[in-house]
Amino acid sequence: MAIPNVRIPSRQLYIDGEWRESVKKNRIPIINPATEEIIGDIPAATEEDVDIAVEAARRALAGDEWGSTTGAQRAKYLRAIAAKILERKSELATLESLDCGKTLFEAAWDMDDIAACFEYYADLAEALDSKKKTPVDLHMDSFKTYVLREPLGVVGLITPWNYPLLMATWKVAPALAAGCAAILKPSELASITCLELGEICREVGLPPGALNILTGLGPEAGAPLVSHPHVDKIAFTGSATTGVKIMTAAAQLVKPVTLELGGKSPIVVFDDIDNLDLAVEWTLFGCFANAGQVCSATSRLIIQESIASEYLERLLLWIKNIKISDPLEEDCKLGPIVSSGQYEKVLKFISKAKDEGATILCGGERPQHMKKGYYVQPTIITDVNTSMEIWKEEVFGPVLCVKTFKTEEEAIELANDTKYGLASAIMSKDLERCERFTKAFQTGIIWFNCSQPTFMQLPWGGRKRSGFGRDLGEWGLEKYLNIKQVTQYTSDEPWAFYKSPSKV
Ligand code: NAD
Repeated sequence: MAIPNVRIPSRQLYIDGEWRESVKKNRIPIINPATEEIIGDIPAATEEDVDIAVEAARRALAGDEWGSTTGAQRAKYLRAIAAKILERKSELATLESLDCGKTLFEAAWDMDDIAACFEYYADLAEALDSKKKTPVDLHMDSFKTYVLREPLGVVGLITPWNYPLLMATWKVAPALAAGCAAILKPSELASITCLELGEICREVGLPPGALNILTGLGPEAGAPLVSHPHVDKIAFTGSATTGVKIMTAAAQLVKPVTLELGGKSPIVVFDDIDNLDLAVEWTLFGCFANAGQVCSATSRLIIQESIASEYLERLLLWIKNIKISDPLEEDCKLGPIVSSGQYEKVLKFISKAKDEGATILCGGERPQHMKKGYYVQPTIITDVNTSMEIWKEEVFGPVLCVKTFKTEEEAIELANDTKYGLASAIMSKDLERCERFTKAFQTGIIWFNCSQPTFMQLPWGGRKRSGFGRDLGEWGLEKYLNIKQVTQYTSDEPWAFYKSPSKV
């Protein structure tokens, strides 16, 4: 893909179908993590802007232009958005890469997935028209009933920086498909492409207020959205720490939340694998794609003792081929960490592991040839025990820790030895064993002989402290629908619970 010479657009908040300066006029600098340079800025919304956006969303919901649309009409908007994303694919991918350090190749992948996700929910929006009103047969003459599926209302969508526009799309597309009016609050660390989504919505004529985009800091722009009495639901993707704050604040209003949080996912490798290289490549991809900044990263390698040393040697050979460079360079396979704060955090995890007695088998530092930018080498840590921080906590960087096992029972125990429950992977040619692991793994996502492939038709989400609720698939749409039952008494006969005065 050719890299276009992109200009960083200077945008305002996207409210009520127009660009609008934030009430306090504050802005947040955008830093390119590959060069550490300031390349632009984004508006910093506050409580006052949240109020304006919520009012706009409520008006959209109550008005005919958005509130009375059929699923088929909404599908047209979603398809138009998908087409615009593809039209601007290389520009958007470049902006994403400049903003969060993602390799251009992965950013272009994201743009394809984003367009496909809007298309997918366009199909589900159309299908919703015939499922909006479902009769329920009670096998009774005196009652007729049906169930309505309606848009849930005004929804707040709060998203992270690791897949900026993709994570936003996983929520925006189904929320609009359902007919909700939405307020998106992307991460302050990577908001450029989410603001461009505002421009795309404006261009395709999405009715004003159906989608509003407020950039800004979590406590200033996210928190007021969560505690706003006229926001009916919060769908959140981000860290467990923020998830706890959001759930606590929402609980005060008994506001429903869904939480897609972090993970410390295992990849269990058995010695019966036929093709070592195939397993090794998935192990690397599972932990180092997107520089390890993936919620479902399989960052704990649990390897059968009999093949451990051969496997690690192979990993080291493959790691040498990972090109670390500016993410816009061709064939770059590992870009920088998103920000200086995250970079410091990752290095601290590595040094703490060393202090606790683990061995840094490879990496562990900034690559010498990268003089600027928040780069961390792909890192493998061995001699790990289960009480170490590196085994327990999500690093969110290119860091793989390793433990060996002898028996299947031991492997299961190690795999589930985490407070998180997002994903797990098993590499084995014994499919019956794989099936046994599907029952044993305490996670919402399970991969056999691979790690990370994600399909929009399948439910995405976790258990334990990885949160609850599901994005994607039909489950991703359901969370933006309100279920209403309607019961009609159809008999001419009195109910006859009380004595009728006429008969007394
Ligand atoms: P984060 O929790 O720091 O921020 C996420 C979002 O929450 C941002 O938009 C932020 O501004 C906002 N926020 C922060 N404080 C807030 C508050 N008090 N009230 C309301 N909003 C607030 O997470 P991050 O660092 O952006 O993202 C990384 C995390 O996201 C990792 O833990 C990762 O595992 C997780 N993640 C999970 C999934 C998943 O599907 N389970 C996907 C991607 C990322």
